[in-house]
Amino acid sequence: MALKEIRPGLFRITINTGLFPSNIYLIDRGVPTLIDTGPNHTVSALNEGLAQAGRCLSEIQRLFLTHIHWDHVGAAKAVAADLRGEMVCLSAARHILTDYEADLARLVQTRGIFLDRAGVPKKIVRTILADLDHYGRFGQSAMPHGVFESGQTFSLGQASLSAIATPGHTPQCVSFYAKEDGILFSGDFLMRHFSTYLTPHISEENAYLPLNAYEESLRRVQQLPIRLVLPGHGPAIQDPHGRISKIQRSMKAYRETILRIIAQEPKSQFQIHSALNGTVNHWSLSFSIADVAAHLGVLLAEKKVHRQDRNGVDFFSLG
Ligand SMILES: [Zn+2]
Repeated sequence: MALKEIRPGLFRITINTGLFPSNIYLIDRGVPTLIDTGPNHTVSALNEGLAQAGRCLSEIQRLFLTHIHWDHVGAAKAVAADLRGEMVCLSAARHILTDYEADLARLVQTRGIFLDRAGVPKKIVRTILADLDHYGRFGQSAMPHGVFESGQTFSLGQASLSAIATPGHTPQCVSFYAKEDGILFSGDFLMRHFSTYLTPHISEENAYLPLNAYEESLRRVQQLPIRLVLPGHGPAIQDPHGRISKIQRSMKAYRETILRIIAQEPKSQFQIHSALNGTVNHWSLSFSIADVAAHLGVLLAEKKVHRQDRNGVDFFSLG
């Protein structure tokens, strides 16, 4: 656990999830407020961080959740039980939080279908799914005390927080904008060193395209006078507008590269991924192949590529 006071009364508690560090934020300016909880096996590290900042859970009046992933809100149930006040989440995220185990089972199943269709070798698929299930269990269902909508503003004494829907990483991601400080608490929407993992959605009836949603979120946030971004992982972003522009440029270039890769002959998503990234470990693959899928989803919608089934694997050629 590491504690850092970023501004007077604004603390970052970094806990090690076992895979990577996650950030929890304490805003202590009149109404003691937490953003996220970390996973369910690091509650003692969270308590230690709060104690070093001079607080404990029974003094926290509001807990906001950015998105329903184990590394951010796995401890929601345990933490909510000890809070003085309310745990709240975006209304659209409520059913995932209250039915977390069923959602995890669905996630593992649909991810398996996605990876098979992407042409990922079976052995690697099994390892990825086993990991997804293993780490997913560092989260559990919890009952929020209340929900909020995007655009809603909460007063925290000398500060305020506005919820801003920033879908892309998940359809129900939300960031929190502290207007007085020009700070955005971004969850996994924006990070300094990593690109956002764009969760693949495979259901046919679901028209949600993670990349379209993400690019729309970037445009929405680009219009706010933000001076500092505090992400769910890694260090603060000191130049938010520069970071967003860089992401936007690299996404455009990424799609152009995919079109070049499939210009000669049809390729599966795994083959496109290999052409882009070479051979990587299964954990990196599980993240970066989702990028390939997200970009192909947009190229398909724009009719720039064509998809063809070959024995249960999708192959993509120029449209
Ligand atoms: Zn995360």
